[in-house]
Amino acid sequence: SVPLSFFAGIGTASREGVLVKGASYLEALASTKTVVFDKTGTLTKGVFDVTGIHADDIDKDMLLHMAAHVERHSSHPIAVSLRNAFAHEADSCSVEDVEEFAGQGVRAKVNGKVVYAGNEKMMATAGVETHGCENEPVGALIHVAIDGKYAGHIIISDVVKDHSVQALKELKKAGVRQNVMLTGDVKEVGERVAKDIGIDRVCTDLLPQDKVAKFEEILKERKDENEMTAFVGDGINDAPVLRRADIGIAMGAMGSDAAIEAADVVLMDDDPLKIPTAMRIARKCMAIVR
Ligand code: ADP
Ligand code: MG
Repeated sequence: SVPLSFFAGIGTASREGVLVKGASYLEALASTKTVVFDKTGTLTKGVFDVTGIHADDIDKDMLLHMAAHVERHSSHPIAVSLRNAFAHEADSCSVEDVEEFAGQGVRAKVNGKVVYAGNEKMMATAGVETHGCENEPVGALIHVAIDGKYAGHIIISDVVKDHSVQALKELKKAGVRQNVMLTGDVKEVGERVAKDIGIDRVCTDLLPQDKVAKFEEILKERKDENEMTAFVGDGINDAPVLRRADIGIAMGAMGSDAAIEAADVVLMDDDPLKIPTAMRIARKCMAIVR
């Protein structure tokens, strides 16, 4: 039978905005020594500002127009941000044959033109060479190709969540030994965010499937089998790692349904500070049970 104090622990957590899906997860939370985070939407807000547009043989507004349309059906935070940056209604064109490439970007036919938008990997998939990207300020670049030709790029930047720095510090106080960040973003951006928030370790340029492999590598480093490793994520791509983790924690407010479904713990308001809070509740609860 499940001791009554587990129910009290789950109740306390829920009043703090942390949904714990079962008593065993309180036990796992109390013994967590490594916390692995996704970057975008988890430690950063996942709300991007357009800070620059570099267009080749095309008008700047037209470049943004094409990017907003090719992203019309994507739920990726970058797609949402590009649509928001495009001031006009993004439903004036026909958008067909949409395909999203995880960790790369998206392709679609916009008014009969084949448009790709995404990172360097996306352009390699499209067979298009990028140019004019040297000496850019550090920020994510969304490249756009139209009918097999490079058309330019849009510079976007994300900001760190208000509580990320404090959350990482409090996790250490709550008994965590190591905080790790995994990201599909490029080295320059990933390492700058890691430095800004003070995370112990960062792994960049990871495709969704690479994230599971990297997580398994981290699992193998544990010193004894009672040490638990948590993963915190928000996206559709994060579901496999959330399932693989001893304890999967999902962002509930802006997170994808797939992530919330796959998780063991859901943070109702996407505040990373709720992770150390949940750990403290779990530890108190275990102290009573034991
Ligand atoms: P993270 O690991 O930071 O959460 P993702 O794995 O979701 O990031 O995406 C990794 C990278 O793939 C993004 O930084 C971006 O360059 C590119 N990307 C993914 N989806 C899209 C999209 N819909 N539009 C443009 N770029 C995208
Ligand atoms: Mg993400």
